[in-house]
Amino acid sequence: MTNFLPFALPEIGQEEIDEVVDSLRSGWLTTGPKTKRFEQDFTEFLGGDIESISINSATSGLHLALEALGISPGDEVITTPYTFTATGEVVRYLSSNPIFVDIDPTTFNIDPAKIEAAITPRTKAILIVHFGGLACEMEPILKIAQKHGLKVVEDAAHAIPTTYQGKLVGTLDSDVTVYSFYATKPIATGEGGMLVTRNPEIAKRCRIMRLHGISRDAFDRYTSTKPAWYYEIIAPGFKYNMTDLAASLGIHQLKKAWTFQQKRAEIAKRYDTELANLPLLLPPTPKDGDVHSWHLYVIRLVDLAKISREAFIEQMAARGIGCSVHFIPLHLHPYWRDTYYLKPRDFPCALSAYERAVSLPIYTKMTEADQERVINAVKEILSV
Ligand SMILES: *Cc1c(COP(=O)(O)O)cnc(C)c1O
Repeated sequence: MTNFLPFALPEIGQEEIDEVVDSLRSGWLTTGPKTKRFEQDFTEFLGGDIESISINSATSGLHLALEALGISPGDEVITTPYTFTATGEVVRYLSSNPIFVDIDPTTFNIDPAKIEAAITPRTKAILIVHFGGLACEMEPILKIAQKHGLKVVEDAAHAIPTTYQGKLVGTLDSDVTVYSFYATKPIATGEGGMLVTRNPEIAKRCRIMRLHGISRDAFDRYTSTKPAWYYEIIAPGFKYNMTDLAASLGIHQLKKAWTFQQKRAEIAKRYDTELANLPLLLPPTPKDGDVHSWHLYVIRLVDLAKISREAFIEQMAARGIGCSVHFIPLHLHPYWRDTYYLKPRDFPCALSAYERAVSLPIYTKMTEADQERVINAVKEILSV
């Protein structure tokens, strides 16, 4: 098939290309001035009083966050099964256990009403995901956390920019928020991410563990009385630092984050209007005044559609359109299923969402004609 419309594509402009070339010519390839600038820009983007720590992926960032929060072997972290495996695997990195809590059937976000029943004396944290870029109900989640003395980490891989009660995700009262700049995410650096926190102790620990456990106090030649070559290792840290090549992309992607969001919101609005009377459920819209990043646009086929989700995606592909499924819930995957003896029906809302969900293409490089092509294909397939 010629002219295939892929499910996702990043939008890389001349500014990004020039910035990467500038880094290449400068001779500074790994963590350096561009990374520092990207971190400063990110703090400014969120509106100050927050530390931004760049990393090589959101997976790394989530691992650093849980490590800094002291999550230890045997501890429990409450999270959602309706996510990418990275959210759960970082809990396992620390030999602790994710405790899955079912989702709200309309938003696909963790259901706050089901969290308290999952808390045990071993529970240490709640790790939430803003699915598709629609914010979780953070007020009840933060209240439960406060009541039980739990930490809160936000997996904001989809959520830039997303707001909750008018505030940007990243500025809420959780402990740590982590973004992904993976190639398909709302802003992209190929591989990359950002960890943000208001807590200086957490920030310090994450910075040290991000790069081999090197103490920056000893490393920083301007504030240290030690010679420039001297450093101290204070822990067996990780290799999670961002490169200046990635930061070069990030600096310019971040500047466009709001424009990108507006473009995706327009596509979402058009889909909402055009697909309204078909045998499918439209994705939920944000509350009045709030911003949905529209990283994903997930429709759900209803029984009246008389076509399976698999057949629907095949027929879209036959028309040259790439679709995807977000997500195959973790409890259906062999590793999670067998490690925790989970059954499909343990999380009925996640299961039912998964069985009907189709993610349609929604990205800034889509032309009006591309959008029309998607709309017409969906109409054609569902009207037979
Ligand atoms: C993509 C994704 C991640 C992992 O991001 P990386 O930057 O690739 O590590 C984590 N959580 C969710 C929900 C994601 O979609």
